[in-house]
Amino acid sequence: MFLRGAVDGRPVKIAPSACEGCGGGVFFVLVNASGAERECSGCGSRAFIADSEEYWNEESWEDDEPGAAGCPCGSEEFEAAVAFSLGDDGSVRWVTVGLQCMKDGFCQAPGFVETELGGFLE
Ligand SMILES: [Zn+2]
Ligand SMILES: [Zn+2]
Repeated sequence: MFLRGAVDGRPVKIAPSACEGCGGGVFFVLVNASGAERECSGCGSRAFIADSEEYWNEESWEDDEPGAAGCPCGSEEFEAAVAFSLGDDGSVRWVTVGLQCMKDGFCQAPGFVETELGGFLE
């Protein structure tokens, strides 16, 4: 696991991303302040990260256009993982998107996605 520690000192559960189409774990990632979408570098299939789809629309892009996540080394291929920050009652509060560069291993967390899942993880 490559995400940096807990958010706000709360417990964090990390779920590595894998492509539903081919099982690959390398993605190009589009992010803005409200969401993230990943595109598999193996088969090109796209998926939203957590509940990003709810906020992923042209209306919100007017102020905040999504951009491709990039490493300082110039690579745009990442392993992606999602970290769920849990509240005191075990409900999901925040989703953090974590990326690790495939070239040099540089890690970053480009976005915090507020979640309204309100559910409980297993
Ligand atoms: Zn794939
Ligand atoms: Zn890099």
